[in-house]
Amino acid sequence: DDFVHTSINQVIEDTLALCNQKFHQHGISIHYNICPDSIIYCQPVSLSQAILNLLSNSFDAINSLEDKWIRIECFETQTDVQITVTDSGNGINEEIRDKIVLPFFTTKEVGKGTGLGLSIVKGIVEQHGGKLSLDSGCPNTKFNIMIPKKARAA
Ligand code: ADP
Ligand code: MG
Repeated sequence: DDFVHTSINQVIEDTLALCNQKFHQHGISIHYNICPDSIIYCQPVSLSQAILNLLSNSFDAINSLEDKWIRIECFETQTDVQITVTDSGNGINEEIRDKIVLPFFTTKEVGKGTGLGLSIVKGIVEQHGGKLSLDSGCPNTKFNIMIPKKARAA
């Protein structure tokens, strides 16, 4: 996946196109604000995979709840582009927050989770010279992908 200059909105829209129907079928509403169009230097397929992994975790976290929504926000600062994925789930317990990005860490039933999703997200974000962070409330879980505008392969 080559680094190219591309529209971040395009990356987000392409990602949502892959899962919109599934969310719709499960009564999950998706809200997203379009980024005042930022062009970033990124690996679009990988970045899309990272966002999809976050959306997939949100799906698992909210699917059995009554209140089901996911919000994607994107904003730009002087130096970087931030993409956040927030869901209506119950948040992530403090005791496991340090462990969730470790490969193979999962709280899901056998066969339902590989525990690799977030470690892949972290790897992709770091390949862009960026950072993945978690800002989990109770309720609500918010992951933030920060990508420097001058992203380059690590
Ligand atoms: P998997 O989804 O296969 O379990 P991940 O690496 O994607 O593996 O996630 C690891 C763990 O982090 C999950 O099992 C879950 O406990 C927690 N987690 C990740 N995202 C969320 C979320 N949006 N809401 C609640 N828990 C989450
Ligand atoms: Mg996952």
